Amino acid sequence: MHAAKDYTGAEIMRTLRDEVFNLGIPVVDFTAAIELILDENGNASGAVLMNMETKELLIARAKTVIIATGGAGRMHYQGFPTSNHYGATADGLVLGYRAGASLLYAETLQYHPTGAAYPQQIFGALVTEKVRSLGAKLINADGTVFMHPLETRDVAAAAIIRECSDRGKGIDTANGKAVWLDTPMIEMIGGEGTIEKRIPAMMRMFKGYGIDIRKEPILVYPTLHYQNGGLDINVNCETPNVRNLFCAGEAVGGIHGKNRLMGNSLLDIIVFGRCAGKSAAERSRSVTNQTLTLAHILAYDKEREAAGIQTEITSPKLLPNYTNQKHI
Ligand SMILES: Cc1cc2nc3c(=O)[nH]c(=O)nc-3n(C[C@H](O)[C@H](O)[C@H](O)COP(=O)(O)OP(=O)(O)OC[C@H]3O[C@@H](n4cnc5c(N)ncnc54)[C@H](O)[C@@H]3O)c2cc1C
Repeated sequence: MHAAKDYTGAEIMRTLRDEVFNLGIPVVDFTAAIELILDENGNASGAVLMNMETKELLIARAKTVIIATGGAGRMHYQGFPTSNHYGATADGLVLGYRAGASLLYAETLQYHPTGAAYPQQIFGALVTEKVRSLGAKLINADGTVFMHPLETRDVAAAAIIRECSDRGKGIDTANGKAVWLDTPMIEMIGGEGTIEKRIPAMMRMFKGYGIDIRKEPILVYPTLHYQNGGLDINVNCETPNVRNLFCAGEAVGGIHGKNRLMGNSLLDIIVFGRCAGKSAAERSRSVTNQTLTLAHILAYDKEREAAGIQTEITSPKLLPNYTNQKHI
């Protein structure tokens, strides 16, 4: 497991962005894939893209396609907040499924035990597990430690929810109940300066709202964090049902089974991203483009109608709509 303080993602993106820029790889920004395109043999052959500002539609023709659209936290399943970025709306799962790819464990989502519960502006934002690993304890309204401090995510999230519901030991916030995470304990154990040195991003995030986590505990509640399920793939990261369609990252189903321990997603996106890239590049050498078709969408619509499913919902969702709570 690799980490760069609590800025690991930023470091990965900085390096990756430099590499993409230096190699002159074209990037089409603010443009989302809204449908996969197949050829007449049912093989993936590209995607319909939409410019999110102008709504202009574009066709990307491809010999192989890799889905790497990330997670689904912004679907706010069961009304939970999320640590995820705004694009995390399960687009890849919708696109792959409509093209005929199978989903694996799609119902399994991970709740990170410690999402910020206060202040409201950062409701659901991640409070990294490094905070607990450095010695901060979870504490209920009575000031009592209610679980082993280094339990796994699923156990810790369940314990917090239980404390706030069945056991009635939560603390009231504008967003519902929460428990304390005793951050000053970190400096008591590790010495003065530990927080600034080891978790500077956390310190900065709360400082922006006038909270000094070195001196005050913070309020936390579980937040939707990771999509365990997703598209089924084989050892080459290809979807077994749709040839030339590859997938990597959080959009893949079950790389960690139905649950996941902390810290290993960044490892899997690199390992499986490399595998998907190599496999797709290798395959593309032998693919000749055929006629493009969206016939699978018509077939999908017919199947949906036959099942009696009527809906006005447009999918993939691309971005959550926070202007009308009904649609979240
Ligand atoms: C706050 C936070 C901290 C984390 N910290 C850690 C950690 O320390 N260690 C660890 O191992 N894991 C961590 N994780 C989990 C890990 O970061 C993610 O699982 C991982 O980044 C997922 O990578 P990805 O490339 O699959 O997806 P993402 O990084 O989510 O990238 C998906 C990309 O696809 C784009 N996209 C989505 N839909 C479309 C579409 N329709 N068309 C075009 N583009 C689209 C998105 O905009 C995004 O740019 C953390 C997650 C969060 C939210």
